[in-house]
Amino acid sequence: MKNFQFKNPTKILFGKGQIENLSKEIPENAKILLLYGGGSIKKNGIYDQVKKALSAYEVVEFGGIPANPEYSILLKALQVIKEDGINFLLAVGGGSVIDGTKFLSAAALYKGDSPWDLLTANKPTTEGMPFGTVLTLPATGSEMNSGAVITRKETKEKLAMGGPGLFPFFSILDPEVVKSIPQRQLANGITDAYTHVLEQYMTYPTGALLQDRFAESILQTLVEVAPAILKDPSDYAAASNFMWSCTMALNGLIQQGVPGDWAVHMMGHELTALYGIDHARTLAIVAPSHYRYNFDSKKEKLAQYAERIWNVVDGTVEEKAKAGIEKTEEFFHSLGIKTKLSEYTDDYSETGSIVSKRFTDRGWTGLGEHKTLSPSDAEKIVEMSY
Ligand code: NAP
Ligand code: FE
Repeated sequence: MKNFQFKNPTKILFGKGQIENLSKEIPENAKILLLYGGGSIKKNGIYDQVKKALSAYEVVEFGGIPANPEYSILLKALQVIKEDGINFLLAVGGGSVIDGTKFLSAAALYKGDSPWDLLTANKPTTEGMPFGTVLTLPATGSEMNSGAVITRKETKEKLAMGGPGLFPFFSILDPEVVKSIPQRQLANGITDAYTHVLEQYMTYPTGALLQDRFAESILQTLVEVAPAILKDPSDYAAASNFMWSCTMALNGLIQQGVPGDWAVHMMGHELTALYGIDHARTLAIVAPSHYRYNFDSKKEKLAQYAERIWNVVDGTVEEKAKAGIEKTEEFFHSLGIKTKLSEYTDDYSETGSIVSKRFTDRGWTGLGEHKTLSPSDAEKIVEMSY
C-alpha cells in the first residue's frame, strides 16, 4: 500500500426531508447565489423546497447551466457574483451544476488574468468561495469531492481542475429526488459511478485488501440495485443505495493508498468534447478497449474482479480476466448503454489520431496508473472502440 494522507471535510445530510435543514448549514449573513441547470428542479418540486428553506436569506438566482458546464455561461455567473456581492454559492443539480459551481468558487477568488488558467495551469486550487450542494442526480460523486470538469465549446475542450479548496461545505442527499430522473440519466449515473470505481480498482495488483473490498462492495451494490432503479426510480430503498454508492465511488475513500488509472476518463472527455456524447456513455465506449489493450498488466485484477463481482470461478487467469471485460460490457448493455463509438457518430475515422494529437499538444505523454501510456497508446485504444 502506498503512503497517504486523507481528509474529506464535506458534511453530508442524507435522507428524506433533509432539504429543510439547508438554512442550518449556511452562515446567517450569507448572500447566496443559487445555481441550477435547465429547469428540471422547477418541474420536480426541488426548487420550491430549496426556496422555502432559504426564505430568511437574500438569494440571487442563476439558472441555465447546461450538461457539461460551459465556460462562457459560467463567466456570466461569475459576473453576477462580482456585481451582486455574493459570498456563498449553492448548487442545486447534478454533476454539471456542481462542477460549474466549483469552477465559480475558484474563479471568484482568482487573481490572475483569465479564469481559464484554472483549467490549464495544472495547479491544485487551494481556496474558493464557500459553497454547498443539493444533489439531484446520483452519478459523479462531485457532491463529496474536490474535482470539476469544465467544457469550452469554442475550442471543443473539456478539462479537469480541482484541489483541497474545492470541497463542498455540505451536500444534501435526499434519495427522493431520484424519482423524477429520466431513464437515460439513471443509466448514465450507474455507469459513471461504476466506472469511477473501476478507475481506482482495476490497477496493477496493489496488495490493498481493504480498498479492493470497499471498491468491490460498491460495484456489487450498483449491480444489485440497477434493475430496481431502472424499473422504478421511486423505490426509496433502491434509490438510497444507488445514491450513497455513487457518492462513495468518488469521495476519496477507495483511492487512498492505491494508484489511480483515470485514463478512461481522460479519453472519454475528448469524446464528449468532440461529439457531445454523454459523459458516462463515453466511459462505456472506452473502458472495454482500455482493459483489452492493457490486458497483460491488468489481467490479475480483472480476474479477481470477474470472480468477486460476476462469480466467474472456472478457467485460467486469462480466461477469467477476459470474462470480466465481457461481463462489464454486458452490464452496460443491460442498462441500455451502447459501447461502440460508431453507435454514437458516423464521424469517427480520425478520432484516435485527433485524441493522440491533443494529448501530445498538452504534454500528456504518460497516462494511466503508472504514467506509461503514450498518446499513441491512447490512439490505439480509441481506435479499438470504433
Ligand atoms: P448532469 O449533466 O448534471 O445532468 C444531466 C441531466 O439530468 C440534465 O438535463 C439535468 O437537468 C437532468 N436532471 C438532473 N437531476 C434531475 C432530476 N432529479 N430530475 C430530472 N432531471 C434531472 O449529469 P451528471 O451525470 O450528474 O453530470 C455530468 C457532468 O459531471 C459531466 O460534465 C462530467 O464530466 C462531470 N463529472 C464530474 C465528476 C467529478 O468528480 N466532479 C466526475 C464524473 C463526471 P437540469 O439541467 O434541468 O438540471
Ligand atoms: Fe465520471
